[in-house]
Amino acid sequence: MIDLEHHDIKYLPGVGPQRAKVLGDELQIHTLHDLLYTFPYKHIDRTRLYYIHELTGDMPYVQIRGQILSFETEGEGRKRRLVAHFTDGQGLVELVWFNGLKYVTSAYKVRTDYVVFGRPSVFNGRINLVHPDIDPADSLHLNSMGLQPYYNTTEKMKRAGLNSRSLEHFTTTLFEKIDFVIPETLPGYLVSSLHLVSLDEALRHAHYPTCAEDLRKAQFRLKFEELFYIQLNIIRYARDRRQKYRGYVFARVGSLFHEFYERHLPFELTGAQKRVIREIRQDMGCGRQMNRLLQGDVGSGKTLVALMSMLIALDNDFQACIMAPTEILAEQHFGTFRKMLDGLPVRVELLTGTVKGKRRKEVLEGLEHGDVHVLVGTHAVLEDTVVFKSLGMVVIDEQHRFGVAQRARLWKKSGNPPHVLVMTATPIPRTLAMTLYGDLEVSVIDELPPGRKSIQTVHQFDNRRESLYRMMRGQLGEGRQVYVVYPLIKESEKMDIKNLEEGYEQLCRALPEYRISRVHGKMKPAEKEAEMQAFVSGETQILVATTVIEVGVNVPNASVMVIENAERFGLAQLHQLRGRVGRGADQSYCILVTRYQLSADTRKRIQIMTETNDGFEIAEADLKLRGPGDLEGTQQSGLAFNLRLADLARDGQILQLARDTAEKVLDEDPYCAAEKNQVMWKQLEKLRKTLVDWSAIS
Ligand code: ADP
Ligand code: MG
Repeated sequence: MIDLEHHDIKYLPGVGPQRAKVLGDELQIHTLHDLLYTFPYKHIDRTRLYYIHELTGDMPYVQIRGQILSFETEGEGRKRRLVAHFTDGQGLVELVWFNGLKYVTSAYKVRTDYVVFGRPSVFNGRINLVHPDIDPADSLHLNSMGLQPYYNTTEKMKRAGLNSRSLEHFTTTLFEKIDFVIPETLPGYLVSSLHLVSLDEALRHAHYPTCAEDLRKAQFRLKFEELFYIQLNIIRYARDRRQKYRGYVFARVGSLFHEFYERHLPFELTGAQKRVIREIRQDMGCGRQMNRLLQGDVGSGKTLVALMSMLIALDNDFQACIMAPTEILAEQHFGTFRKMLDGLPVRVELLTGTVKGKRRKEVLEGLEHGDVHVLVGTHAVLEDTVVFKSLGMVVIDEQHRFGVAQRARLWKKSGNPPHVLVMTATPIPRTLAMTLYGDLEVSVIDELPPGRKSIQTVHQFDNRRESLYRMMRGQLGEGRQVYVVYPLIKESEKMDIKNLEEGYEQLCRALPEYRISRVHGKMKPAEKEAEMQAFVSGETQILVATTVIEVGVNVPNASVMVIENAERFGLAQLHQLRGRVGRGADQSYCILVTRYQLSADTRKRIQIMTETNDGFEIAEADLKLRGPGDLEGTQQSGLAFNLRLADLARDGQILQLARDTAEKVLDEDPYCAAEKNQVMWKQLEKLRKTLVDWSAIS
């Protein structure tokens, strides 16, 4: 039996050291095992032959059989192409090449039987097959070829002469070499109870299925296994940690909470807020350390939930801390808390990078002695000089802005880890949350405070400025405020800032009666603060900014969000930005300004935005459009693994099965120590070597 995992790919017949290097660099194929697990991205049915007269321009790949009548070169220079007139005796079709002309004319002969495989297209009213695959007809046994695999390749591979066909040859050779049954990697009892196909069969059929059903079964088994081990690992870790660390028990819901609820609350809580507060109370009272993700669309009132949860900590003689990603946001929270808690015996302090000197010393001392009850801050609260007397609860706002490591640091500020509530307005689809966070409980605020009018979103091309200004004037005239946002990315920073500056000047000319703030990433922090502050206080009516305003600012009087170059923003970001308006009781508007020519994807994004205000719907659509790797907000927290086969957007059901199965297995055998689970243990060990620090993730 060959040791697949240690057998270097270069020794596979047909590969050799040079191609092995390319395979390693480009597709991370180093061993036979790697090749085995490099799956085709699609299969094409090669059992059927078409007649040329059946072909139409909108067919997927087809194959036809016949002979080349003649070759001809057409066109000049870069347009030069080689055309072969091909017939099956009844119809005529053109085979076309734009490069490799010499090779083609020497490799293929006229009046010889070939099977031609390609995708029909229409050019000048005639059907073409561009750069088709051609095989001598007598070399193929079409009916036995079944579904042909297609593998991903890269530019570098193509330059080294490696294409999908080469990989097909390699895998064929490999399977010829594997004259034994590939050892099972799931416990036998799971394979049979879940009616999975064996690993051996799954691997063979994932590359070379005999029919579509075989392929489906093979993929199901492999996806299940992939997700199962990830779930097993996360859940095992989470259970382990739960045993090791106990949580503080907040048994009391005491006078502060009650007094706040009865006397200070300026409005009635929404049903969703009440439910979430109840969930949090239960968590913090049960002796387990709380680790809860609070998802709620922008404007759904997460801050209040945070505040009331913190009061429970205070009622139990603990301190609480809330960390926000920007200074402006920290200051806003600080202001809100001070105002709402006015008259209660609670000392709230602010700690950011700009709190210095004597002030800072006072805050730090207060924290250490325990007379500061609630600390509101930015990253600054993570510094080692910040010492709490008894930190019992931590809230992290807009959690996707913080890295995993930063979160872990907050934990360490307390004997037992404090209860943690992370809040985000970036809705993480359930499937992704399940994969990312093993034991993070999830609460959702799925209801907006009453009286909010849903934001009207419209799409406008950027050559229609006048109507845009008219609408802005209308809202400004009613005393409202307006955001105008420009994209800013590192690669095109100079251009982006130029766009913003030009936009700013245009606005100054178009709306001379209003005052305009301007904020972008290149400004000094103090300057930025001042400009923002002017807008927050209402001194200026328009804020022209790059995405620095994306996170959390609350200006209820702002009713228009204009997003320039909207085609350059992702869905999640557009939704976040839109959430800056619609916070008061007035009708608000979001205007997506784009250029005229748009890609299909962009048009889809804009359409979704104009059709729905529901963050979860948008997140699901985003996951489908872009794939989980790109999903905003998960990039920083980082999917700790690459899924080879499973697709979080589509395989939700398999994921659920994998998770349920993992739970069951661990209920029965917490340490995977049973004889029948040995193979599982070995897989887990392997998995763990390839992963980042799981403790930081869950
Ligand atoms: P987010 O969830 O985006 O952080 P905030 O907590 O900033 O939202 O709340 C948005 C606005 O809604 C704030 O002005 C807040 O005072 C208000 N708000 C929160 N809860 C309620 C409620 N139950 N009824 C009315 N207004 C509320
Ligand atoms: Mg918020």
